[in-house]
This record gives sequence, structure tokens and C-alpha cells, in this order.
Amino acid sequence: MKNRYDVIVVGSGPAGLGAAFKLAENSDKSILLVEKKKISSGGLRNDCKQNYTYPVGFPFEHWEKDEVDELLKEVKNHLNPKMETRQNIEKYEKRARKIGVEILSIDQAHVGTDKSSALINSLIEKLRALHVEVALNTEVKELSNDKKEITLLSGQVIEFDHIILAAGRADYDWVQSQMNTLGINYNDNIVDIGVRVETKEENYPIVRDYYDPKILFPGKVRTFCTNSGCAHIVKEKYKGYFSVNGHSLSKENKRNNLVNFAMLKTIRLTEPVVSGQQFGKILGEMVMQLSGGSVIMQRVGDFRLGSRSKKETFNSDLYDFEPTLKSAVAADLSLSMPAKILRDIWKSLKMLDTIIPGILHPSTIIYYPEIKTYSNRPEFIDKNFMVKDGYYIIGDGAGTSRGITGAWASGIRAANGILNRS
Ligand SMILES: Cc1cc2nc3c(=O)[nH]c(=O)nc-3n(C[C@H](O)[C@H](O)[C@H](O)COP(=O)(O)OP(=O)(O)OC[C@H]3O[C@@H](n4cnc5c(N)ncnc54)[C@H](O)[C@@H]3O)c2cc1C
Repeated sequence: MKNRYDVIVVGSGPAGLGAAFKLAENSDKSILLVEKKKISSGGLRNDCKQNYTYPVGFPFEHWEKDEVDELLKEVKNHLNPKMETRQNIEKYEKRARKIGVEILSIDQAHVGTDKSSALINSLIEKLRALHVEVALNTEVKELSNDKKEITLLSGQVIEFDHIILAAGRADYDWVQSQMNTLGINYNDNIVDIGVRVETKEENYPIVRDYYDPKILFPGKVRTFCTNSGCAHIVKEKYKGYFSVNGHSLSKENKRNNLVNFAMLKTIRLTEPVVSGQQFGKILGEMVMQLSGGSVIMQRVGDFRLGSRSKKETFNSDLYDFEPTLKSAVAADLSLSMPAKILRDIWKSLKMLDTIIPGILHPSTIIYYPEIKTYSNRPEFIDKNFMVKDGYYIIGDGAGTSRGITGAWASGIRAANGILNRS
């Protein structure tokens, strides 16, 4: 690595990749892409479902449809998606409308966790061929408050003209500490809290016709990140707690005939709350206390009867499939979740069961918590996500996107800011 670059991009998730490609293909600037993990690249590695219809993944406060439609064409050019078909959903749409629920029609593609590494490696090779220096296994320790330079964990100091921070959600606190150093104001008042539902595909047959159905319920509850085919639930480590998440393998793998999806409620906290991220973290930590350090799960049959699921009863005769996340602890949802969140999510699940009867089969498992902290909201000084002359903050960690395609588009926008200024 040199000691100076025109542009440094921190983070090789889709936001960082989007920025690096745009700059490399449209300028002769020297570009360094720094990634602390050994393998690129952020959330692209998991499942890799891509949503190609506004507004999924694009927060309204930053994006309008016309611009998104244009940017998504650029995202497609790089990710080469093979689009899923969507059919036979009219009957569900009709039932949903009757009870005040909306089913969005979204164009989607799915790669699968087993195939995403090949896609990522090919993207990195293309960037290298475009003369982007890609430094994997290289962590940025901090930015300086008065000089345009970063210090790596190794101690090396590197100067820049422009920097794009694309550090993702998991490292929101690192981004916050850099914003404190740089004197950038931000707020942090929104968090998504919810559950992940796992059931047999026959209880949620809509997925045979619509890979990741996006369904909006009253009370700011929505379905999110549906996986089927060969689908699994995983535990993700955050600072202080675990959150559940889901993914699936590509179509070439043997089906396990299970489906999982998240039901999330968006919580917008108001004065005098200090931090939505901390709120989410404390809820996550509470579950750790109750479960002895894991996440919890409960069968719908037990939840309905008001009894906690127990290890010895978790697989009784009515409960006819095994949980894919074996390390989740059988427990009691209502002991762990704030009432308002639980009420709204349970009501939404009942509505979903009215639209697609079967989802609330006694064997269906509800896992908790699934926490999405998208909520660093820096004060941007222009439309290109600039926060200070030469400094840009993008991607899920800055609240500018909620998913792969939105993150990539936010990278293009920041890169355009740099290209326009040059
Ligand atoms: C299990 C799972 C499944 C998902 N499935 C989907 C899906 O199917 N479809 C979808 O649209 N979205 C999915 N998502 C969400 C998606 O991953 C994110 O929306 C997206 O990756 C956000 O992109 P980003 O570039 O903002 O951040 P990230 O992808 O998180 O990338 C940030 C990168 O920055 C690096 N980094 C952080 N700090 C530093 C530092 N100090 N120095 C150097 N590098 C640093 C991190 O290591 C990371 O690689 C999933 C997420 C998970 C966890």
C-alpha cells in the first residue's frame, strides 16, 4: 500500500463496492478499498437476495423512484441478476387489501449463500483489473480530526483527498466514534425489532410463486428477508448479544422444505431517548440473560396456550419439524419482548394467517430477537452523502440503505459526488 490515495473506501460490502466500481470506471483516480475481514465483502456473502423495485431497500428520506430506477440499472450491470418469477399472487393481494394489508410486487434475484463467494471473488478481481488496490484483512483504526488521513490497526498512516466510510450495521459504533472525532452531528433514533418465523413450506405456499414476499401491515410491521428451498436460521454476533437472521442455499441444493422470514416492527423513538441502537442492544442483552447466552424460540402452539416452550416438549407429536437453529433456547416470548412490539407483531401474524392460512400452525417456531440497527443518521451536507468536505458516509450503517441493492446505489451516489467535484 502507498501512503497516499485520491480516494479511500472503507468497507467492501455492497456500498463500498458500488462506490469503488463507479470511481474506477469513470476516472483515473488512485483508489484504495480497505476491508478488515480476510474475505470480502460484507453482507453480500449471506444469501444475496437482490431486490430491484423501489422502495424496498431505499429509505424514503433519501431516495425517489426515478433516480432509483436509473441506479438499479447500474447495479444490475455489475451483479448480473437472474430474476425470479412472480405469479399467482392476485388471490393473496385481494385478501390482503380487505384487511388493510399491502403486498408489494418486487422484482427479485437470489444467489444463495453457497454461490455468493464466487460472485464476490469475481467482483474483486474486476476491481483489481481496474487498478483499484484492494486491501483485505486490513482494519482502519481511526480517522484524524484535523488531517485527511487514516491510521490502520498496523500503525500505517495513509493520506487521502476523499474518503467514503461504508462500514455496515455491525460496526455502527465505530462509525459513531469517527463521527465524534470529525465533529459530525448524527442522530440514532430508529431501530427495527422483531422475530423470525420458521415453518414448513406447505404452511406458507406463497413462496413457491413469490420468492421473498414483501408484505406491509398496520403498526409499521413488515415481512423481511424470506428464505425457502434449502433455508436455515443463523445466529449473528453483535456487541453484547446475538440476533437471529436467515439465509438459504442456491437452487441446486436439496430442499429442506422449510421457510423462514422476519416480522419486523420499526420503532422511531422520540425525545428524551438517547439512542435507538442502545435500546436494541439492551433488548438483545435481556434475551441473553434469560437464555443463558443465546437466542430464544417458542412454538406457536405453546405461545397460544400461554405456556413457555420447554426443551422436553419442544418436539412433541404436533411439532413435526426440527428447528434449524439448534442452539436457540426453548423459552417464553412474552417474558422477553416489550408488550407493544409483541402485540403488533402477533396481530400482524394473525393477519398473515388470514391471508395465507397455515402460517400459524402449532408447529411454527418464532425466534427472538431479530434486531436491525440501521439508525446512524449523520447530518449530510449534500445529496451525495457528504458529511464534511471530502468525507462521505454510506450504506446500511449510515441509514442510507436497507439491503444489498440500496447499499450499492448509495455507493454510486457518493462516487458521483466525488466525480462531480473533480
Ligand atoms: C445473514 C444475513 C443475510 C442477509 N441477507 C440479505 C439478502 O438476502 N438481501 C439483502 O438485500 N440484504 C441482506 N442482508 C443485509 C445486507 O447484508 C446489507 O443490507 C448490506 O450488506 C449492507 O451493505 P453495506 O455495504 O452498507 O455494509 P456491509 O455489507 O456490512 O459491509 C461493511 C463492511 O465494512 C467492513 N468494515 C467495517 N469496519 C471496518 C474498518 N474499521 N476497517 C475496515 N473494514 C471495515 C466490514 O467488515 C464489512 O465487510 C443480510 C444480512 C445478513 C447478516
